[in-house]
Amino acid sequence: MSKLKIAVQKSGRLNEKSLLLLKECGIKISNGTSKLKAEAQNFPIEVLFLRDDDIPQYVEQQVADIGILGENEVLEKGKKVSVVEQLGFAACRLSLAIPKNKNYQGVRDFEGKRIATSYPNILAEFLQNNAVKAEIEEIGGSVEIAPSIGLADAVCDIVSTGSTLLTNGLKEVETVLNSQAVMISSGQLSTEKSELLEKLLFRIRAVRNASANKYILLNSPDSAIEAISALLPGMKSPTILPLNRKGWSSIHSVVKEDEFWDVIDQLKSLGAEGILVVPIEKMIV
Ligand code: ATP
Ligand code: ZN
Repeated sequence: MSKLKIAVQKSGRLNEKSLLLLKECGIKISNGTSKLKAEAQNFPIEVLFLRDDDIPQYVEQQVADIGILGENEVLEKGKKVSVVEQLGFAACRLSLAIPKNKNYQGVRDFEGKRIATSYPNILAEFLQNNAVKAEIEEIGGSVEIAPSIGLADAVCDIVSTGSTLLTNGLKEVETVLNSQAVMISSGQLSTEKSELLEKLLFRIRAVRNASANKYILLNSPDSAIEAISALLPGMKSPTILPLNRKGWSSIHSVVKEDEFWDVIDQLKSLGAEGILVVPIEKMIV
């Protein structure tokens, strides 16, 4: 039986979360990242540990069937691979930044300027779309120091909190791209491997749905059951169980993590009591 070969980052920002995602999908991987390869004990999958820059090419050439990396890297490399799933972690953006003491009026300010970046292709496309001609200075790392050493007037770099830019005397002025970790595939998988990928994606969605939702239990006066059920529609409808106290029921449902605080306030004003909110491990919708 063939195995699905997945490329993940060997070390760096994506490594731990990529392996955690596989673990949450119930896939047990035996050895750490010290080796180039690892096998799963309970799913036909083989993990290849690579530099993230190399993953698009390895997937295009089908050395790996699928890979996990930042969307920024996928777009920059421009290889023939397709994004099959957004994974929701390693959120960041590619931004243009200039020295903080400079005024900024708009993207035309970059006309004729020198911009340092590790993302020359994405930047060139952005400049072209905005009809701006600027010089792109490609550098491999520590892009943020380029203006202070006189290498460039501005930078185009990955930002998550913005603190690295700030400590280097820069301010973010344009977002070029929003990115997150994604799963890519060569799009040329055998039927057997496509089925394995579908199985894996099913599990990934169950894990992601679970973390985006909470299980909620509460006691409600019978008179409020209808109003509370309307607030907590759940997956099909809430479960209503009688309490051993006349006029009261227990309501169980599922609520979205990001709607949770709004709903709680409304539940309290409807007379709900003893509200419990618990994590969900897997959720199949
Ligand atoms: P490699 O050695 O594998 O080439 P790298 O140095 O290119 O690693 P990391 O710094 O580990 O890469 O970042 C990997 C990815 O994490 C980035 O491509 C980006 O998608 C994402 N990321 C999220 N936040 C940040 C951040 N603050 N800075 C850099 N990358 C970030
Ligand atoms: Zn890299």
